[in-house]
Amino acid sequence: MVRAEMGDWRPAFEHLAEAKAVAEKLLRNQLDQRFATLKVQFDTAATRKENALLQRENRTNEKALAQSRRVRQLQAIVLILAAALVTLLVWLVLHQRRSTLRLRALAMTDELTGMPNRRAALGRLDALLREPAGLDCSVLIVDIDHFKSINDHYGHPAGDEVLKVVAAQLRKAVREPGFFGRLGGEEFLVVLPDTHQKPALVTAELIRERVRAIDTAHWFPDRRRITVSVGVAASRPDVDTPSGMLQRADAALYAAKRAGRDCVRADVPPDPEALHGTPLPM
Ligand code: GH3
Ligand code: MG
Ligand code: MG
Repeated sequence: MVRAEMGDWRPAFEHLAEAKAVAEKLLRNQLDQRFATLKVQFDTAATRKENALLQRENRTNEKALAQSRRVRQLQAIVLILAAALVTLLVWLVLHQRRSTLRLRALAMTDELTGMPNRRAALGRLDALLREPAGLDCSVLIVDIDHFKSINDHYGHPAGDEVLKVVAAQLRKAVREPGFFGRLGGEEFLVVLPDTHQKPALVTAELIRERVRAIDTAHWFPDRRRITVSVGVAASRPDVDTPSGMLQRADAALYAAKRAGRDCVRADVPPDPEALHGTPLPM
């Protein structure tokens, strides 16, 4: 303008044009800068939105992961509980079975001697007689002589000991398939399957001798002998029953008692021929 006032128009015009160009450039720069700023702001906002979206997605994924982890944990807990429950049930069933077996064994065992009791022995005899081959058996009733007097002289505990040692001798003398049991008091039953009268009498005699040989010094200061009387009954060819056989063995036992005790008797006198000349104390 100074130059225009001075009349120097050409440079003044050039200067003006230059100034305009600079102003335009400046304006364009400002616009570019503004545009760039806006773009950056826009990009930042978009990125922030995208980040927020990703974060939300992440959180959702984490939640889903945590949930599936919890589901897996719950499944594992359910499996462990189910296994524990099954184990407990199996244990309970086994325990119940063991208890039932133990109770049954207790109900079938004589507490003092540990041998089968009356119910067990008679049950086995009944089962044996129901078998077709069971009718060839023999039964023995073994009764301790003057047992009451043992109790009276040496005391009830000594009597109990005598019952135990006699039971031990029966255990030694009777082998499977033979079996025995305590009928009650000082009476024992021995059952010999597949055994006729003669071998049954031999077993009865063996029992009598073994009992007589028991060393009693431990309980009886006077070393009094323990003796038993034995009644033997062999099954009959007709249908026999436990009570029928027991009655005949009992009758034979009383015959032994009447004969003076410490001896063996059979329900029917044994055939002397069959005994091969080995006389038994009848
Ligand atoms: P016998 O020679 O005629 O057989 O006479 P016994 O004395 O042996 O027979 P009795 O029936 O007169 O007596 C049996 C006794 O056995 C009576 C009872 O007190 C006793 N007794 C029964 N059970 C037991 C027991 O478990 N322990 C003891 N110590 N004694 C018992
Ligand atoms: Mg007796
Ligand atoms: Mg008796």
